[in-house]
Amino acid sequence: MKFMICPQCGVAIFYVKNKEGERLNVKVSRALEIIPNDQSKNLKGYNLDELFCLGCSWHGKIGELKKYFI
Ligand SMILES: [Zn+2]
Repeated sequence: MKFMICPQCGVAIFYVKNKEGERLNVKVSRALEIIPNDQSKNLKGYNLDELFCLGCSWHGKIGELKKYFI
């Protein structure tokens, strides 16, 4: 499966946060499906409107991710 990447640094691993500020590492498929890195976890309670890059300071919406690093 191919994954979306950060528009700023090109890594394909992000995290989302919940109200308690806990982080969950996720990947985003080409179909813009958010998938927990640890598939025993689920996304319940996490804010999926904002993704944070693990490789740099980028954060933003899923629609801003890129398919390829330019
Ligand atoms: Zn990044």
